[in-house]
Amino acid sequence: MDRLQLLFAHPLDEPPYNLLRYKRTDAQGVHLYDVYALDGRHLGEGGALKAIQLAHREHPGKCWYCDTGIPISSVHRDHVKPRASKGGNDLHNIVIACPKHNCAKSNMPIAAFDAHGATKYLDVLHDHLSRVARAHQR
Ligand SMILES: [Zn+2]
Repeated sequence: MDRLQLLFAHPLDEPPYNLLRYKRTDAQGVHLYDVYALDGRHLGEGGALKAIQLAHREHPGKCWYCDTGIPISSVHRDHVKPRASKGGNDLHNIVIACPKHNCAKSNMPIAAFDAHGATKYLDVLHDHLSRVARAHQR
């Protein structure tokens, strides 16, 4: 994985998150991703929200908050930093959640909603940034 791919990769290195490959940034500054199945098939492309949904359709993931498997039909994409607090549709700001937890979290910051979920997210973000830093030292 080259440095740009690594930098723009989701901090979580597991399906469905790691099925996305940064493709390019469009004229509006939106990062676009190609989505690949684990067997290498190209599933589609899009911005982070669409790409995560495409990936989840192929390899359903678990709710970030309760660790329950989420059916394809009811996946919610949760903004770690809420849209209401100017949290963007950047890949690093999105995790998948069950409808119950995404609706309960609503516009709350992750730390106010679920301290365990917040700590878990900061840990994976720290690991991700450490990998990026190491790659840039090479
Ligand atoms: Zn949940």
